[in-house]
Amino acid sequence: MLIKKIVKPTTFYYFCEKIKNTMAVFVEIFPASYGDCFLVRLESEDSKPYHILIDGGKICGNPHKNKLIERLQQIQSLDLLIVTHIDDDHIEGIIELLEQNENDSIVHIKEIWFNGFRHIHYYIGDTQGLSQDHINRLDKILAHRKSKQDTNGIKEISADTAHNTLTPLIMQRNLPWNQRFLGETVIMEKDMETNQARKYELRKDISIQILTPTKEILMELDNFWLKALNSKNTKYNEVEDEILTKAVEYLLAQTEEEVESNQIKTVSAVTNDIEYYYSLNETKNTTINNRSSISFILEFYDKKLLFLGDAAADDILSCLGKDTNHHFDLIKVSHHGSKTYTSKALLEIVDADNFIISTNGKRYKQHPDMECIAKIVYRPTESKRNLIFNYPSVSAYQLMQNSEWGNTYKYELYSTIEGEINTIEI
Ligand SMILES: [Zn+2]
Repeated sequence: MLIKKIVKPTTFYYFCEKIKNTMAVFVEIFPASYGDCFLVRLESEDSKPYHILIDGGKICGNPHKNKLIERLQQIQSLDLLIVTHIDDDHIEGIIELLEQNENDSIVHIKEIWFNGFRHIHYYIGDTQGLSQDHINRLDKILAHRKSKQDTNGIKEISADTAHNTLTPLIMQRNLPWNQRFLGETVIMEKDMETNQARKYELRKDISIQILTPTKEILMELDNFWLKALNSKNTKYNEVEDEILTKAVEYLLAQTEEEVESNQIKTVSAVTNDIEYYYSLNETKNTTINNRSSISFILEFYDKKLLFLGDAAADDILSCLGKDTNHHFDLIKVSHHGSKTYTSKALLEIVDADNFIISTNGKRYKQHPDMECIAKIVYRPTESKRNLIFNYPSVSAYQLMQNSEWGNTYKYELYSTIEGEINTIEI
């Protein structure tokens, strides 16, 4: 039997905690629909556990939201909240959380990293005010958002959430925002001495190296939303205006949806050969929203984890450098296992013991793509790679349950409990 049950639900994890070694990394994977939501817990004998929440996932019905809130109530204090980018499958759970977290009633959040409209727009800096007419039009865009979501069966979220975006909530809750970056944009910057992406020390034993976004990506994103805004016959000017901020953050998410849905959707053909999937031509269809993801390397003692958000392979490759080689304990595969976000060229320089592929395949039906999984396993390796799917019902997981492939390509599937928080220890 190829499948080995080594992922533990949270209840079992508490038991494991008691017998843990002197230091350990736990990654809790939430059942966040087609979105991302991970709680990383870093433990060592010398200091208190350090908690990082990465994205809030998509809220489809209440179970995920309740699980996330219950879990955060247990830990009481969150050292860092990273919202990788603005798309609803990453941001929605955070909006719900902050709405309910008045006076830290759920969890105390020590710092949030998120590039909101003001950070994205930072490089252009137009300061003329908005006319009332523009504000009215922007309000209409937001009202349209609400009605669109009400009629969409998938988006079962409250009207309040539909009308809310993250920026005003961060301000209402008075959260320390991008403090490590002096309140400015979370961005990849090269260290002058090493010529590598700069590392930020979170604690003496924990560091984060930001790989994306770059300044160029954010400028492109800024131009992109300006075009989207202008196509709605709306001029913008005042960057601090709450209505504008809401409208822009909404437009960014909405426009990404349109770009993706206009693409021809080809569901990967069912075949019994990994080599076939590997041999298919690569395309590099990416959106600027996804490319703006905060992607990073998290280091804790000798452990290295690569969280890619929905970042594009070429951007990661150009940050790390073609002639480098990086082995990670874990890689969170970009954009829910999309074939266009993981490239053979990137996988020539990065590898890992564990790969997390997070989606229930409900939004982009083909996710995770078999082409993406094939690129990961179709490379020589000395030790087995673990492939961790948080929804074993997706078709790629079903196809990979092939013991012959498992032996040939040296991988093991992690069997998670669908709908539960699944915790892996690294
Ligand atoms: Zn996503």
